[in-house]
Amino acid sequence: MTLRLDVVTIFPDYLAPLELSLIGRARREGLLEVHVHDLRDWTADRHRTVDDTPYGGGAGMVMRPEPWGAALDEVCRSAPGRTPHLVVPGPGGDPFTQATAHRLATQDWLVFVCGRYEGIDERVFEEFGARYPLSVLSLGDYVLNGGEVAVLAMTEAVARLVPGVIGNEASLDEESHTGGLLEYPVYTKPPVWRGREVPPVLLSGHHGQIAAWRQKQRLERTARRRPDLLEGYLDGQGGTAAAEG
Ligand code: SAM
Repeated sequence: MTLRLDVVTIFPDYLAPLELSLIGRARREGLLEVHVHDLRDWTADRHRTVDDTPYGGGAGMVMRPEPWGAALDEVCRSAPGRTPHLVVPGPGGDPFTQATAHRLATQDWLVFVCGRYEGIDERVFEEFGARYPLSVLSLGDYVLNGGEVAVLAMTEAVARLVPGVIGNEASLDEESHTGGLLEYPVYTKPPVWRGREVPPVLLSGHHGQIAAWRQKQRLERTARRRPDLLEGYLDGQGGTAAAEG
């Protein structure tokens, strides 16, 4: 079944990049179905208000529950026979990782809920979390202005795992965050650029030596930049077996 993605936001234009590049092509080829909705279409007042002051006081504004309730009632019922999985980007969520992307890529319908201001009235999550699977996911330990940028990152990470979206699916196999290590350094023509040479082994045509060099680079790069990942990788390999590279 084609993966369907719905995004509800007060800035639909922010999602314009979903028309471009591999995702745009995947949409045109019917590999992905994407619908972007303006939350303000579900407001009832002249000013199309979506926010109000926080109960209990404090700085900033909070998104009111009524527009979200009406929007999600309608969007989540718009594909009969499918169950939506709600994805709520938020800095307080579970970390969004490659494993999360793989998990979401196996769903048939994701509905992204883009917060703004200080976030969305918590009762929206109580209401819809009781009806549908709902994941609150964080892009990282920093605060963005809204969920839209997070949705662009998440949809791209998920969409490229959908069969057919990436032209050469073998390129997914050795990528960073697949198999536990970061990817090795990559090079292309020319063989010498500004006096800097491509590592000779890559020009040798010797597949075994190239594979061994790449594995060593992966281990070294991971140890240097992400020792936390290397620890997990070595544990998964039964301790020391992989360290010899
Ligand atoms: N007051 C909230 C807090 O401290 O947790 C932050 C709200 S933030 C200014 C507004 C919106 O940006 C959030 O509702 C969420 O949609 C999005 N957002 C901000 N940081 C994010 C992150 N690290 N990952 C995913 N979404 C994020």
